[in-house]
Amino acid sequence: MEPVITRFPPSPTGYLHIGGARTALFNWLFARHHKGQFILRIEDTDQIRSTDESIKAILDAMDWLSLDWDQGPFYQTQRLDLYREYLQKLIENGSAYYCRCQPEELEKRRQQASAAGLKPKYDGLCRNLGLGPGPDRVVRFRTPDSGTTVLNDLIKGPIFFDNSELDDLVLQRSDGMPTYNFAVVVDDITMNVTHVIRGDDHVNNTPRQILIYQALGVKLPFFGHVPMILGQDRTRMSKRHGATSVMAYKEMGYLPEALVNYLVRLGWSHGDQEIFSRAELIEKFSLDNVGKAPGIFDPDKLLWLNAHYLREKAPEELTVLLKPYLKSFNYPEKPEKYLAKAVKTLQPRVHTLVELAQSMKFYLAESIEYDPAAAKKFLTPEVKEAFAKLTGAMGTLEVFDEAGLEQVFRRIVVDEMGMKLGKIAQPVRVALTGMTASPGLFEVIDVLGKDTVLQRMKLALAYIESR
Ligand code: GLU
Repeated sequence: MEPVITRFPPSPTGYLHIGGARTALFNWLFARHHKGQFILRIEDTDQIRSTDESIKAILDAMDWLSLDWDQGPFYQTQRLDLYREYLQKLIENGSAYYCRCQPEELEKRRQQASAAGLKPKYDGLCRNLGLGPGPDRVVRFRTPDSGTTVLNDLIKGPIFFDNSELDDLVLQRSDGMPTYNFAVVVDDITMNVTHVIRGDDHVNNTPRQILIYQALGVKLPFFGHVPMILGQDRTRMSKRHGATSVMAYKEMGYLPEALVNYLVRLGWSHGDQEIFSRAELIEKFSLDNVGKAPGIFDPDKLLWLNAHYLREKAPEELTVLLKPYLKSFNYPEKPEKYLAKAVKTLQPRVHTLVELAQSMKFYLAESIEYDPAAAKKFLTPEVKEAFAKLTGAMGTLEVFDEAGLEQVFRRIVVDEMGMKLGKIAQPVRVALTGMTASPGLFEVIDVLGKDTVLQRMKLALAYIESR
């Protein structure tokens, strides 16, 4: 069997959309599964809308998702000679012709056709005029007037198109630029692409492309059209349903593993399994299990997956990933080891890196800020004595670790004062974190360390006295 070659050909007219990322991912996985090649091609023939920033944004997003390519990036604007060469073949064998009809005339004739109840397609005026090149002339494909074109879609099954319904599409615009449908065929032929996997918004383009392959006498690749991604209200995914740019998820503190895992399941399944490692995806991915129904974007599930991948990370690795997010909070610098220890206590409790960075505040900020309601409820004269005794006892502790601290608390609170540990744990939590919800109290104490703990206990005592 010939080696599998897939491709991802984004148009650089904006950022990488999550729909595009899923297409890229499916192509990448298909190539990796079959030990084939994955090509990146930039479809930049729309010179007005294509920008270098978009190219960079797309490459950055591919890089963030670790979707590496074996060939490319190729740029269509650097391949114009090749399109001209193929165009010449089509003109020579009679499959394409020059057309001098101008946009305004075409529009008028289309309107007339519509008014007469006819299909408003190109009326073929220049088809048999034998025109040559000239200013303001386009080149059109001579679409067969009859017959059926069959798309044997790997995902959707066979789809039939009446050729008579198809237009004589433009292959080359009057400025000499190839159109999408033509350039894509020349590229896929010359890059030996075996499998074209793309969004099903391209289904209607495919018969036109198939006819071009046939006119060139070239074997067809396999086509697989993946259903769209819809929002919860079943309309096409847009900003109303959540961020649509891949890199916006990075900014919001998502891990690429989570987004990849989420996107792959948005259209593909393997039994009930939800969580897949990259290696497992490569092993298991196949187009047979790509569904026919659209994927419905579910931000809660993505958040759930992100929390899962955050929990799975080694604290040291997570700390490295967290650094840029911490920066935006302007916390004072702390040693890497301290950060990792703090991260370890918080990582089971958060859903994003932004949330993690935010919740690091009580570990990192110079001064403690009390949640007013928490301070009012828990930092009361009732706990003053216990606070004073605990502060004294903790001050004499040689080894300031979780086990030792727990002993001190039990001895003072339970044995000496006859109180329940629970009664004092929450006030101490407020004293140390400013909040009523935090990781385990002894974990917190252990991370903060003796100096900070004693300082915050004394501060809480002062606060109680000032009430
Ligand atoms: N540039 C096209 C797009 O972004 C590529 C479609 C294709 O895969 O053929 O939709």
